[in-house]
Amino acid sequence: MKKKTMAWETIKKISDHFRVQPNLSDYDLTCAEFSWENIRKELDGLPDGKGLNIAHEAVDRHANGPLRGHLALRWLGENDTVLDFTYGDLQEQSNRFANVLQNLGVKKGERVSVLTGRLPQLYIAALGTWKTLGVFCPLFAAFGPEPIYQRLQRGDVKVLVTTERLYRKKVIDLKNRLPKLEHILFVDEVENAGEGLWSMTKMMAEASGEFTIPPTDPEDMAALHFTSGTTGMPKGAIHVHNAVLIHYMTGKYIMDFHRDDIFWCTADPGWVTGTSYGIISPLLHGITNIVDEADFNAERWYKILDKQKVSVWYTAPTAIRRLMRMSTEPRQLHDLTNLRLIHSVGEPLNPEAVIWGRDLLGLPIHDNWWQTETGGIMISNFPSMDIRPGSMGRPLPGIEAAIVSRVAEDKVQVVQERNVEGELALRPGWPSMFRGYLHDEERYRSCFTDGWYLTGDLARRDNDGYFWFVGRADDIIKTSGHMVGPFEVESGLMEHHAVAEAGVIGKPHPMIGQVVMAFVSLKPGFEPSDELRRELIGFAREKLGSAVAPKEIKFQGNLPKNKAGKIMRRLLKARELGLPEGDISTLEEER
Ligand code: ATP
Ligand code: MG
Repeated sequence: MKKKTMAWETIKKISDHFRVQPNLSDYDLTCAEFSWENIRKELDGLPDGKGLNIAHEAVDRHANGPLRGHLALRWLGENDTVLDFTYGDLQEQSNRFANVLQNLGVKKGERVSVLTGRLPQLYIAALGTWKTLGVFCPLFAAFGPEPIYQRLQRGDVKVLVTTERLYRKKVIDLKNRLPKLEHILFVDEVENAGEGLWSMTKMMAEASGEFTIPPTDPEDMAALHFTSGTTGMPKGAIHVHNAVLIHYMTGKYIMDFHRDDIFWCTADPGWVTGTSYGIISPLLHGITNIVDEADFNAERWYKILDKQKVSVWYTAPTAIRRLMRMSTEPRQLHDLTNLRLIHSVGEPLNPEAVIWGRDLLGLPIHDNWWQTETGGIMISNFPSMDIRPGSMGRPLPGIEAAIVSRVAEDKVQVVQERNVEGELALRPGWPSMFRGYLHDEERYRSCFTDGWYLTGDLARRDNDGYFWFVGRADDIIKTSGHMVGPFEVESGLMEHHAVAEAGVIGKPHPMIGQVVMAFVSLKPGFEPSDELRRELIGFAREKLGSAVAPKEIKFQGNLPKNKAGKIMRRLLKARELGLPEGDISTLEEER
C-alpha cells in the first residue's frame, strides 16, 4: 500500500538549554529504579499511620509547615476580581466545609457534586469533601438540565453545591426526580432558602475552622468522574484516594513542578483533567495554582500567561487550534518569557500544533495521553525528551504500556513488531486506575482481558518506544483492505494553510468497504469552493498517498464537539448517513 508517513523533524531537547533542570532527566534509569513505594515515601500519610488522604497531602501538610503562607490558589474572576488563598487559607476553608458536610450527616462514600463554574468554592468544596471521606463528583456548569440529571441520578448524589442562578435555571425542575438529593448548598448569600436548601456561606461562617481527617484507607472512594461522552453515553469512573500517588508523580516528572512554579491548567474540574491537574497535582507540590473563571478568550489567555507569570501551562488541542486560527497580534503584545513548559491532553495533538507552539509561543507543545479511567497521565512527552511531533510520547515510569491484538474472545497477544497498529493496553495495577464504572460492573470487567486493561484506542509503537495515536477503535476506517486512522488524515489536512480544523470519518461504500471522507472548517479569510476542495484533495494525496487521502471533502463552519472540546466523529458520521444521533447530551452548541 502506498502510504506516506509524515516526516516531521524531531525537536531536540539539549540539557544545556533547560532553564531549570528537569526532575526527570534520565528516563531509562528512572524507569529501572522506579517503585510506587518510593513515591509513597515522598508523601506524608495521615498522622499516626492512619492512611492516605488527598486533601491532607494537597493542603494540610503544607499548611502545617513552612508553606502555610505561600500562595496556593489565585482566582481570577470574570470581571477581573482577584482572590488569593494561601495554603493556610485553603486549610481553614476546607475544614469549615468538611464540618458543614459532617453537620449535614454526610457519611463516608456519599457523593457531593459541585455545579458552580470555576468559583473558589468549588475548590474548597472538593478539598473539604475529601477530608470527610465523601466522594467528589464535579459537574460542568455549561451542562444543560439533562446531563446534570443523568450525573446526579446515576451518581446517587446526596449534596449539591451550586449557585442560586444555576439552581433556578437547571436544577429546580429535576428535584422531584432526584429523591437521593437531600441537600442543596448555595454559594451565594441566601436567607431562608427553604427545605433542604442552605446557604453555604452562612454555614461555613458558623462552622469550626478545625477538622481532623478520619483514618483514610487509600482504597476509599474519592471521586466519581464521568467520561466525556465522545463515543457514547458517559460512564461514571470510580477513583480512590490512592490516585494521589499518580497526581504527585506526574506533577514531579511530567509537569516538572519546582518550588517557585506558577501553574495554569485550563481544564474545568467538570472533567478529570481539571480535577487531577487543576486542583490536586499542583497543590501536592506546594506551588501556586491559577484558576480563571472565564471561558476561552485568546486575548485574555495571553494576558494571563503574561501578567500571572505562568511557568507551566496545561491546555488542550481544541484550545490550541483556536489560538492557531487567530491572528498573531494578541500574542505579540505579551511577554511569555516566564513560560518554560506547555503540555496538552484530551485529543490527538496535530504535529502542526507542536511546531506552531515552538514558533509562536517559543516552546513546543508536549502531548500527553490518558483517559478518565486512568486517573492521571500515562504516556507523555516529558520535558527532557526529544519530541517527535505527532507522537503521544513514552509511558511513565511505573506504567507498562503495550500494543496488543485480540486473538480470541478472552485472549490478546502483545504485538512485538514495531510500527504495527493495534490496541493500546496498560498493565493494571497503577494507583489511579479506575476501580469500577458506577453501577456497571460488567462493563468494567469487559475492559480487562488476559491481564491487560484495554483502552479502546489504537496506536503503534516505534523503534524507540514512542507511541503514536492512530484513532479510537470505533473511528477506524477500513478502506480497500487498509486501516486508516482519522488522526493522520486530519493532521495532513491541517498542514494546508486554509484549514482550521478537520474531522474524518469512514463512509460505507459497496466496493471498498468505506471511503475516507473529511469535514473541514476553514480559517478566517477562506471561502468554501470546488476549487479549494480539489486543491485540498490533491494536497492530501501528495502528503498521505491516495489510499489514505480523503476522496470526499465537505466544508463546515464549525465541527460538532462535545463540551470537553472533542470532535464528535460519530456525530459527523450519523448526520452524513442520516442515522440516529445517539446520546448528544454533552454536545456543545454549534456556533
Ligand atoms: P467516552 O469514553 O465517554 O467516549 P472520552 O473517551 O472522550 O469519552 P475521556 O476519558 O475524557 O473521555 O477521554 C479519553 C480519550 O481521549 C482517550 O481514550 C483518547 O481517545 C483521547 N485522548 C486523550 N488524550 C489524547 C492524546 N494525547 N492523543 C490522542 N487521543 C487522546
Ligand atoms: Mg473513553
